[in-house]
Amino acid sequence: MSDMNTITAERAGRRESAAPRIMIVEDEPSIALMLAYNLEAAGFLVERIERGDEAELRLAEQPPDLLILDWMLPGVSGLEICRRLRARERTRTLPVIMLTARGEEKERVRGLSVGADDYIVKPFSIPEFMARVQALLRRASPGRIASKLTQGEIQLDRETRRVFRAGRELHLGPTEFRLLEYLMEKPGRVFSRAQLLDSIWGLSSEIDERTVDVHVGRLRRAIARGRQRDPLRTVRGSGYSFDETFGREGMASASAPPTT
Ligand code: CA
Repeated sequence: MSDMNTITAERAGRRESAAPRIMIVEDEPSIALMLAYNLEAAGFLVERIERGDEAELRLAEQPPDLLILDWMLPGVSGLEICRRLRARERTRTLPVIMLTARGEEKERVRGLSVGADDYIVKPFSIPEFMARVQALLRRASPGRIASKLTQGEIQLDRETRRVFRAGRELHLGPTEFRLLEYLMEKPGRVFSRAQLLDSIWGLSSEIDERTVDVHVGRLRRAIARGRQRDPLRTVRGSGYSFDETFGREGMASASAPPTT
């Protein structure tokens, strides 16, 4: 009992401070690598496991915040792992996304009937996959992922898909919205054009890197009118970032009383 309490306290402590932990159980290295790369770029802590039996041991030891589970695995099948997770108290509500090459309705129903929360058929696009992960995490633990991102006077609402600057609504296209959301999640971090292409358009897209410049340009024009400060930084030879100092001085003079 005291052991359980210790574990619970540890997990609670970590939950407040650290990024969500995602376990990928997938025996195809190229898929596992691609998913891990994109999840890590989005700020998640990722653990990769190739065998079903090995996954069971790790899951009993330390369940993640979300599990990506391939259906066909060496050792124990994903279907069986999911069934067993649901039978145990500690993992009964663990969010699970099943991956499979099978796309038949009957199989889909079978996957969901053993308790998977979501089901993705290969091949799938990375933006689609990332959206499902975020949606499931939000459903599973609201508050874990903020529904609003705020930097200075810019506020982005993921649920209503609306963006405001100083109370005025900005009208962004879907790509500009995703671009802004992505950059605002990690203020200060510089993303290369290739990284932005992978994360926002998907690895399989055959879009030219100059497309990124075009959309950043559109986003800039929508976000900073007239003499308003531009929160997006172009880092020569590297890429783009959301300026982490944006709004700090402005906020201090606009809303806080002078302290000197
Ligand atoms: Ca497999």
